[in-house]
Parts: sequence; C-alpha cells; structure tokens
Amino acid sequence: MTRAVHRFREYKFGPDLQPAAEPITTAMQCKACGLTGGTAEEPADGSAWAVGHLKANPDHLEYREHIRRPYRFEAGAWQ
Ligand SMILES: [Zn+2]
Repeated sequence: MTRAVHRFREYKFGPDLQPAAEPITTAMQCKACGLTGGTAEEPADGSAWAVGHLKANPDHLEYREHIRRPYRFEAGAWQ
C-alpha cells in the first residue's frame, strides 16, 4: 500500500500587475442596438464612441462597458 503525502500551499488571487500582463481593455456597447465601439486601453475612448453613437441615434441612451482585466494566482509559502 502506497501512502500519499500532500503538501498545501496558499495562493493569493488578484489583478495581474506584472509588466508582461495583458493590458486592461474596455469596450462600450449600446444596449439599444447591441453595437460595440472598438476595444480600447483607455476608458475615455469608449465614452467618446458612445457620444458619437448618441448623436447618430438620439434614442440610444443606455450603454454597458465591458472590461477585460487579467488576474493571476501568486504562490505563497508551503504549509
Ligand atoms: Zn445603438
């Protein structure tokens, strides 16, 4: 009979802040028609698209912002 020995390690989970991490990106989507502006690394870019979309479609008043943020586990000490 084989006896297994398990070691446990704690991990901390949070936003990936490493220089090589994927950038945080945002995209604004019109809730009325479903159109989405381009993906941007600056939230203000999505707002500018929404303003232009509203000018072209005065009754499209509601939007949602899609945010992509990389996360990662950081290994902690063995227990
Ligand atoms: Zn729209």
